Amino acid sequence: SKEKGGNSYHYYHPDMNKRSLHKLNLEIHLRKALERGEFRLLYQPLVDLKNGTIRGMESLVRWQHPEWGMISPAEFIPLAEETGLIVPMGNWILKQACLQNKAWLEQGYNPLCVSVNISAIQFHQPQFVSVIEETLQESGLDPGLLCLEITEGVAMNSGPHVMETMDKLKSLGVRISIDDFGTGYSSLSYLKRFRVHTLKIDQSFIRDVTSDEDNAAIVTALIAMSRQLKITSLAEGVETREQLEFLLAQGCDEIQGYVFSKPVSAQEFEEMIRQNKQL
Ligand code: C2E
Ligand code: CA
Ligand code: CA
Ligand code: CA
Repeated sequence: SKEKGGNSYHYYHPDMNKRSLHKLNLEIHLRKALERGEFRLLYQPLVDLKNGTIRGMESLVRWQHPEWGMISPAEFIPLAEETGLIVPMGNWILKQACLQNKAWLEQGYNPLCVSVNISAIQFHQPQFVSVIEETLQESGLDPGLLCLEITEGVAMNSGPHVMETMDKLKSLGVRISIDDFGTGYSSLSYLKRFRVHTLKIDQSFIRDVTSDEDNAAIVTALIAMSRQLKITSLAEGVETREQLEFLLAQGCDEIQGYVFSKPVSAQEFEEMIRQNKQL
């Protein structure tokens, strides 16, 4: 980090100062944001390519600051991870997502699986599995309707602790998705060992899948591999009809992206399922 200097003397750099002040300011506000109820969840549909219907939704957190407006997770999640605030924040997100999914089920909508992003810091907490268990109990949600999105980096770090946690989660009955698949170290033997439910093919491969032959080859191979391993393939960041056609032709199972819907408020999402929105 830029703050590392040891004993060495360095000049005061005005830009650096501004940046660390900004960060400090952000951190102070972030600490208060949870108790002030400034976080909210958006939901983005996950769509079945076989019949064009909504199968589930990914919850994506936003910080609605009273003066600064909407702040993107790319800005505050890294800071939340650095400060450990991601743990209480992540617990709140999990609870919120489960309660919302349960509420929709009780209103009579078709069962949907809600996906929740789990940070590496959360995953490695000794209490992580019991937090999941408690959240399911408190919300009354069927474990099969909760999916934890874990990045390749976390999941493939195959220490004994990771293996144990993954096994416990599987025996709880929750689903596991490998997020941003293709961007980290992939271990195919690992996929076989854990039988994860879904591989989310990273949007960087999808972006120019119709113009870049290499990306097309990678995506084709990932979809074929998923099918062989009986793992659901999901393409992230699908924006165009052309990308959709390509994925359909390759036999991809599910998609997520602006071509169907951007992430929306709970209210707007409910409107979509009420109207049975289809691809
Ligand atoms: P991610 O988990 O890979 O989430 C997908 C991101 O792609 C979201 O950005 C989503 O809005 C965006 N996206 C969806 N469809 C499209 C598309 O068609 N085109 C493009 N260009 N983008 C699309 P978002 O919401 O800004 O989130 C960014 C990242 O922040 C997430 O990446 C995830 O790593 C993190 N994040 C978001 N919510 C949470 C959370 O609740 N907990 C944790 N730990 N991390 C979160
Ligand atoms: Ca995700
Ligand atoms: Ca992703
Ligand atoms: Ca990502």
